[in-house]
Amino acid sequence: MRTPSITAAVSWLHEHDELARLINTVSTDNLPVLVITRRMPHDTLPDRVVQWLLRRARQKIANILDLSPVNTGNEYVQLVEGTSAPTIKSIAMTFEENDPFGMLIDIDVFQYGVPLTRSGRGAPARHCLVCDKPAKYCISANSHPRSILFWSVWRYFFTAVIKCGRNFIISRNSLK
Ligand SMILES: [Zn+2]
Repeated sequence: MRTPSITAAVSWLHEHDELARLINTVSTDNLPVLVITRRMPHDTLPDRVVQWLLRRARQKIANILDLSPVNTGNEYVQLVEGTSAPTIKSIAMTFEENDPFGMLIDIDVFQYGVPLTRSGRGAPARHCLVCDKPAKYCISANSHPRSILFWSVWRYFFTAVIKCGRNFIISRNSLK
């Protein structure tokens, strides 16, 4: 099982190009690779909340794909057997667009070390957390002050909490 061996490295490799290169060297059996990462700057949400968001996203995707559970609890890189990469990408995009917490999560699907793109599936680029422009544009242009990003992330978080209503319970245990 290769997944745990690359997880530690991936935790600090947030640049997709670096991630793709890493995965390309690790995944030699051509299985699609599912990568779930935070979609907000560090130090906006507390780490425990981010870990909870990642675990929740992973669990939702795993339920759809019928993936076996991973013991570490914080896994967010996984080789996927039995489902094609385009199908996984569609599931990921549906989650990103429709889940209450989807705006705070990035789900990438790689095959042969190359990420499947939204544009390749006829979908527009994901928009920025603050404005309607593509997120990549605002990140590279450094368009928004840190304080605005901070409040925008929290706004998405609390809006999602309200949408989930009674189903949303952050117990101490679920955040550990
Ligand atoms: Zn923006």
